[in-house]
Amino acid sequence: MSSTTMAVPPAAVMARYEPVIGLEVHVQLATATKIFCGCPTSFGAPPNTNVCPVCLGLPGALPVVNREAVELAIKAGLALNCAIRSQSRFARKNYFYPDLPKGYQISQYDEPIAEHGYVDITLDRVSKRIGITRAHMEDDAGKSIHEGFKDSDRYSYVDLNRSGTPLVEIVTEPDLRSSAEAYAFLTELKQVLQFVGVSSCDMEKGHLRCDANVSVRPCGAEKFGTKVEVKNLNSFRFLKEALDYEIARQVALIEAGGRVVQQTSLYNPETGETAVMRNKEQAPDYRYFPEPDLIPLRISEAWLERVRLAMPELPARKRARFIAEFGLREYDAELLTQTRAAGQYFETVARVSGDPKAAANWVMGDLMGRLKAEDRDLADSPVTAGNLGDLVKRIRQGELSGKLAKEVFSRMFSTGEPAGAIIDREGLKQISDAGALETLIAEVIASNPKQVEQYKTGKRAVLNYLVGQAMKATRGQADVTAVTALFQQKLG
Ligand code: ADP
Ligand code: ZN
Ligand code: MG
Repeated sequence: MSSTTMAVPPAAVMARYEPVIGLEVHVQLATATKIFCGCPTSFGAPPNTNVCPVCLGLPGALPVVNREAVELAIKAGLALNCAIRSQSRFARKNYFYPDLPKGYQISQYDEPIAEHGYVDITLDRVSKRIGITRAHMEDDAGKSIHEGFKDSDRYSYVDLNRSGTPLVEIVTEPDLRSSAEAYAFLTELKQVLQFVGVSSCDMEKGHLRCDANVSVRPCGAEKFGTKVEVKNLNSFRFLKEALDYEIARQVALIEAGGRVVQQTSLYNPETGETAVMRNKEQAPDYRYFPEPDLIPLRISEAWLERVRLAMPELPARKRARFIAEFGLREYDAELLTQTRAAGQYFETVARVSGDPKAAANWVMGDLMGRLKAEDRDLADSPVTAGNLGDLVKRIRQGELSGKLAKEVFSRMFSTGEPAGAIIDREGLKQISDAGALETLIAEVIASNPKQVEQYKTGKRAVLNYLVGQAMKATRGQADVTAVTALFQQKLG
């Protein structure tokens, strides 16, 4: 935590105010090429190599809409429960900045592709619906580089590789009431968009960028307070820290008899503070007008229907189904639907094994634990879902004890082999054959006369010792339950 110079008002004072928050989230669409030209969107190319006359904003160059970008925007809209407009329109948002070669951004203004949606969040087991005002398409600007060059103290550089990258901007209603709700919303949003394949939402690469609008009002008041827009919230932690700081700043200001001024601020992660970037008077006038180089974007009923049918099951639905169909606990269902890959993996293990509860435990415990320990992803797990399902099935059928199964699993993870191959080669099968167990128990009884005598005279605890001897003799491969039952039967 960064320490700030501002004195945070006491909790009792903070409790008298209610924060109101609305987010504006920019998400990079996962297309191979840019939104209005054919340049690649690949990350990390040498500066100014993925460019052409269109994304350089050269005079006379004409934009052509990337169909794939539109389709991903439709998917985003559907995933956020929005209505998709049959006709939307691109508009020019005019402003001057060195990383914006055209002198305007192509965005959507009064006719966005998607609007009137919602996202449900759950916080402390309470669900809440957060309204989505709109989701519109736009192109990204380039990047100004202010450091890293030997003359960076005098010059800034511009890299236009990112110029023209497709984005959707998602705007929420002012429905969020705490930094925790904002955090939960962004978490849910990211998960949903990743599920649908709209975006990688990789914050480190800037594929998910968040601005927050925040105001406070006395509890019980109906009217919203004056809002401040905080920019540059490029991690979940920054979002929470910046909101907490800004909420406390506004309360302190009002308590001291001041008034919140409408402004745009920048969060500084190094100090943990927000600082004014511009006030209301300095707010730019974007002079929006319809983009004359692009015809209105028409989405036919048939196209929309095709996209709708191709949508995967969303996380909330999947969670509910895992609980209903497999009897999972809420927490487990939550964990197993973090990603689409995790959901698919678990579901295969559950079906192949026929034991969903055990499947959940193996996936969340042994598998995820081992993957994490080796810093690997589920996508390159050496143990396939089918193979883990088969292992769990063998436990269910009594072929392997839990202990043996852990050993087999460990080898499966190291070698990538299926359980059967390892069990055959290493002779790790559980001994539950009645004949073999009878012989084993007879041997243990014969070589431990003292303990047998103690058991018969009422020292029942000795049974554990005898079972232990049988397990030791078989290197843990005997079926414990069967061994215990057999001892009890033999010793009366
Ligand atoms: P602007 O006209 O400044 O663009 P909008 O009404 O379009 O403002 O809202 C922009 C964002 O600010 C939205 O996410 C919205 O939910 C949020 N917002 C609007 N009013 C408030 C407020 N009083 N407090 C906090 N957030 C707000
Ligand atoms: Zn280009
Ligand atoms: Mg607005």
